[in-house]
Amino acid sequence: MRYYSTNKTAPTASLKEAVVKGLAHDKGLYMPEQIKPLPQSFFDGIDKMSFQEIAYTVAEAFFGEDVPADDLRTIVYDTLSFDCPVVKVEDNIYSLELFHGPTLAFKDVGARFMARLLQYFIRKERSGMVNVLVATSGDTGSAVANGFLGVEGIHVYVLYPKGKVSPIQECQFTTLGQNITAIEVDGVFDDCQALVKKAFLDADLNAHMQLTSANSINVARFLPQAFYYFNAYARMKALGKADNMVMCVPSGNFGNITAGLFGVEMGLPIKRFIAANNANDIFYQYLRTGKYEPKPSLQTLANAMDVGDPSNFARVYDLYGGSHERITSYISGATYTDEDIRQTMRDCHATTGYVLDPHGACGYQALKDLLRPGEDGVFCETAHPAKFKEKVDEILGTDIAIPPRLAAFMKGRKSSVEMSREFDDFKAFLLKE
Ligand SMILES: *Cc1c(COP(=O)(O)O)cnc(C)c1O
Repeated sequence: MRYYSTNKTAPTASLKEAVVKGLAHDKGLYMPEQIKPLPQSFFDGIDKMSFQEIAYTVAEAFFGEDVPADDLRTIVYDTLSFDCPVVKVEDNIYSLELFHGPTLAFKDVGARFMARLLQYFIRKERSGMVNVLVATSGDTGSAVANGFLGVEGIHVYVLYPKGKVSPIQECQFTTLGQNITAIEVDGVFDDCQALVKKAFLDADLNAHMQLTSANSINVARFLPQAFYYFNAYARMKALGKADNMVMCVPSGNFGNITAGLFGVEMGLPIKRFIAANNANDIFYQYLRTGKYEPKPSLQTLANAMDVGDPSNFARVYDLYGGSHERITSYISGATYTDEDIRQTMRDCHATTGYVLDPHGACGYQALKDLLRPGEDGVFCETAHPAKFKEKVDEILGTDIAIPPRLAAFMKGRKSSVEMSREFDDFKAFLLKE
């Protein structure tokens, strides 16, 4: 399969090139040249298939030309070492729980898949060590570090701003050891990002070591997210609830929802989608006005959705040929303030006993507000509430339990390299590696 850039001026790329480069030369996002429809027989029997079997069928359609069946099966099965179950919250509203992976958020799926696909390419071509540089304000670092943990042939450097990530986040990438090095930068997130960007452009460093990024726009992180939409449909079908099924996705950079939309292009019978935003409502406004107007991001309770210029908008736009009419006929939007999010979390907890995290709360509320009679809604619960324990406990007056895998990180010993925000220091450090 070839991959083209949404900006249409860069040459097309092979899967390997698209994965290693991340972004095309013209700064566009890579899109597969074809999205292959799956046969009706697959959808007829999908409710009897396991999540892993379903995911392998979907993966085959995207990656089958580039990765031999046995290797692809191993990659998919290893990636999905945890389930993404559908849980009933109340009549007609279900939660697709995407937080059962190692770092308790949906980004585990894409990060684990990308790590294994990259490892496959490294082995096949017997290329030397590949070094992944990632700057994080908290959540991406943990998903990438854990996704790549123990993967041979790859070393990961996680750069994070000293004192600016929560203790729960920090322990998820500073206690791992093995092929993960945490770098604590004396600065803010933007300094970390600037160090990484400069490193990619530095000739000495590139001659010394093979560098790549694990950015969330990478096709190998983005496409595997389609897997769990098929699983949601299968589990709803088994309940007899899939005929008028609506999917609602708490959205920031729009990678998650776009993967679901790709699923629909493959024939997945989801009636329509809802994108739930927090106060960063750029997409919501686009649906209303037809104008895409990026803004500086606002800090909210659902901070992983604090995005003022969602990068995957380019993919949504490309997928629907730039037609506002087509986009609005299939996707609707909602936007919620922090006060709305708090109220939703309290109401849902009081009436159903279900504990939402602030991101999932946007998805749940959008279903409450926009679901029509006869429809069944599934929202993505994108993170485990314990990841935001202080906030959740304060809002609900609870003391929610920390899952053992998260508690295990917190017991680990922190190890990180202290770094100034000067590029020369960072470069000198990498040249000694
Ligand atoms: C990243 C993230 C989101 C937003 O997902 P996008 O793919 O960027 O739209 C939502 N919730 C949580 C918990 C996240 O970590």
